[in-house]
Amino acid sequence: MTDSEAERAERAAFILTLRGRGIRDVAVLRALELVPRALFVDPTLRRHAYEDVALPIACGQTMSQPSLVAAMTEALSLNAEHKVLEIGTGSGYQAAVLCHLASQVVTVDRYRSLVSEAQVRFRVLGLRNVAAFVGDGLLGLSTRGPYDRIMITAAGPELAPALVEQLKPGGILVAPMGDPREVQMLRRFEKGPEGVTATDLMPVRFVPLVPGVAATL
Ligand code: SAH
Repeated sequence: MTDSEAERAERAAFILTLRGRGIRDVAVLRALELVPRALFVDPTLRRHAYEDVALPIACGQTMSQPSLVAAMTEALSLNAEHKVLEIGTGSGYQAAVLCHLASQVVTVDRYRSLVSEAQVRFRVLGLRNVAAFVGDGLLGLSTRGPYDRIMITAAGPELAPALVEQLKPGGILVAPMGDPREVQMLRRFEKGPEGVTATDLMPVRFVPLVPGVAATL
């Protein structure tokens, strides 16, 4: 088999694994099929790119296992008109998946190097509907908002008020909530006329949401 055939076979098996893990939304499965995860992982971990495992990335951070990326994407109930804010760019993988389902993706990370590496990947893939910024995600990014959907990919004890403010009425926010040293609960928040209501989705483990922009890297 040539490399590209091998990669195609690997990615077909990857989608079957995601289906086996309960991901049913065809558009979400298609989005994960379109994004080569191999481009987002460290070259030394390439052989694990299409396994359903979380992998370490630079700056001591972690990219989630693909079935969790898919489940969080599914929970956002996206449509092609939506503007989405992601807090925690990391490798850029989750943002790239969102690009195939939403109209615009804005992603923020506190590490400059992660943002610039993700920007290179977006360029390589020709993704034009994503913009990545260095910043403190706890403040959101009001200049680009408001947002139809927000996804937080790092864990914190409570929902940052700025993010709720930047969510449109009727908007949905998905985030892992709880103590970063323990198992957290993935929660789905909906901004209704009476305020924000929350639903628990599943127990998860994420790296912590740390206030402020990183001083190094
Ligand atoms: N979504 C990423 C993985 C995110 S890991 C991917 O698909 O690869 C969590 C990320 O959240 C880390 O990169 C970390 O730097 C970032 N982060 C933590 N606290 C933050 C904050 N206050 N503002 C912005 N980013 C933050």
